[in-house]
Formats: sequence, structure tokens, C-alpha cells
Amino acid sequence: MNQFSYLRVRSVEDAVRGVHGHPSAAFIAGGTNLVDLMKEHVARPSQLVDITRLALREIEPTDSGGLRIGALVSNSQVAYDSMIEQRYPLLSRAILAGASAQLRNMATTGGNLLQRTRCYYFYDVGTPCNKREPGSGCSAIHGQNRIHAILGASEHCIATHPSDMCVALAALEATVLVTGPAGDRAIPLADFHRLPGSEPERDSNLQPGELVTAVELPATGFAQHYTYLKLRDRASYAFALVSVAAALALEDGKVRTARIALGGVAHKPWRDLEAEQLLIGQEPSRQAFQRSAELIVRDARGHAHNRFKIELARRAVVRALEQASAIGQPS
Ligand code: SF4
Repeated sequence: MNQFSYLRVRSVEDAVRGVHGHPSAAFIAGGTNLVDLMKEHVARPSQLVDITRLALREIEPTDSGGLRIGALVSNSQVAYDSMIEQRYPLLSRAILAGASAQLRNMATTGGNLLQRTRCYYFYDVGTPCNKREPGSGCSAIHGQNRIHAILGASEHCIATHPSDMCVALAALEATVLVTGPAGDRAIPLADFHRLPGSEPERDSNLQPGELVTAVELPATGFAQHYTYLKLRDRASYAFALVSVAAALALEDGKVRTARIALGGVAHKPWRDLEAEQLLIGQEPSRQAFQRSAELIVRDARGHAHNRFKIELARRAVVRALEQASAIGQPS
């Protein structure tokens, strides 16, 4: 049995102090991923700092015209919040595409950002896994890798990030607010998660002791032209094989702004700025969207069981952009 101490805190400062000096301490809120990891002996925190009493449960307007979502706001509250539904429906759709109603009621915004990969081997302590035990090897590269990455992977890890919410946040160019021993900082979502490289044990660029306090959405929500397309092995309660968050701003029948983020294909939500740029000034058309999709998968690399994801991603991007621009039929 893994023994740990438990500390309940009532301020962000106390939370940050609570993990100081405990290299393997962990914050716990909804616990929808961490508790599973502890039961499987994948996570072995020496101290759990319970942050559920912190005042981080508000969704409020920001001075710059956006919205700030407290880190403890549940996934359900975000998805059904009237301001989110009206101004950022892409985020609402993405969240509702994930997990189950029960899990969304418990899971928090901060926890969703930090949920860990669903690679089978990561959860099986009887197998080598560089993410769980650095230097032990990667069982997935020559094992079962149907759900694994086709973009941005390394020889050390081919895991994918499992979140739907984060794919929408990537397309919306959200910002993550954190507080730590060195003070407060704001991290663009694109820089929050990381590719595996030679340190797959690190999922994010959070520094030791830093606590996520909120996510900020910019003023532009792409409420007119958006879609979240999630392709998976069954219709509900399954992680994405490929997902696409597409958001467009159209002006005089042409694309003024394009955002395309993919889930299920990489260690982080995947964006390709060149592929987005290619659409600027174009009339929405299948041909234009196909050229953009080609660019996104140009460096994709499959393994024994997941090569199909390259074509799936290409087609999903085209379909999502068609839906977002309303030239295609919704799924
Ligand atoms: Fe571990 Fe990553 Fe390899 Fe999965 S893909 S076994 S998480 S190192």
C-alpha cells in the first residue's frame, strides 16, 4: 500500500506551500484521473493537497472582453454555462463529447488540463513505460499502438493527450493562469502541454509546485462558424482516435481567420499554423480544405496499428472545416 499524508487547504498560497518540499506531492480536486492512477500504483504521491475548498469556482468576464474560468469549475458547469454556450459553443461541444455525465460533474477545468494519457502500458505497472518510469523503455512502439500518436512523437514515447476540452482551448487560443513558489504567470495554451522528446514523464511545462488557478478565453469565440468533430471506436464514453476543433471567421465570403486543432494524434493538442494560414483569403471549398489537411499530416508517421489515423485525420480536418463553414452537413 502506498502511504500518503492528506492536507486540506483554504487558500491558493496555502496550497502552494502545501506541496513545497514534497517532490511527489499532488493537488487533488475532482480526482477522476488521479484516484485511478493511485489505485493502479501508477501515481504514488507522498502528500495529497486537497484544493476543493479554494475559491476558484467562478466563470467571470475579463477586462479584455473574454471569460475567466476558475480551475475548480466542473466540466459540466463550463459546458452548460450560458455565456460559454452563446459565445464559445466550440468549447461546450468539445467538453460534452468527452467522458460521461457523472465524470463531467466531478472533473474540473484544471484537472482536465492535467489528465494523463490513456496509453494502456502507462496504466500497467508490469510493463516498461518511459512516461511512468523514465529510462525503462516504451512498450507501445512495438506493441499495441492503435490509439497512439502520428504527429510529434519521439523514440521515447508515442502517447497522445486524451482531453477534448484542451483541443477546443487550443483552437480558441486560451491562456492558463498558474500560481507557484515564484509567483503568478500566464501560459498560452499552445505552450502549456509539451511533446514527449526525451522527457515523456513531463506532460506540461508547469514548474514544480505550480497550481493552475484559471483558464482565460480571449474575446473572440467563433460562435458563428465552428465545429468539434470527434471520431472514436464507439459513440460515447470513448477517447478520440482523431478529433478536430475547427473555427473560422468569414468576411465577404472568404476566410479571415482559421483555427484548426487536432486531438488524439499527438502528445498535446496539435495545431499547424501554416495550414491555417493557407486558408486565409480563400473561399471555403473542399479543395482549399484538402490542401490545408494535406499540410497538417505531411510529417505524420504511423506505427503497426495506427497508420489508418493519418488518412482519418486528413478526412476529419476536411469534414470539420466543411461543417464549420456550413458548406458541409453536420455529423
Ligand atoms: Fe509509456 Fe508513452 Fe510508451 Fe505509452 S507510449 S508505453 S506512455 S512511453
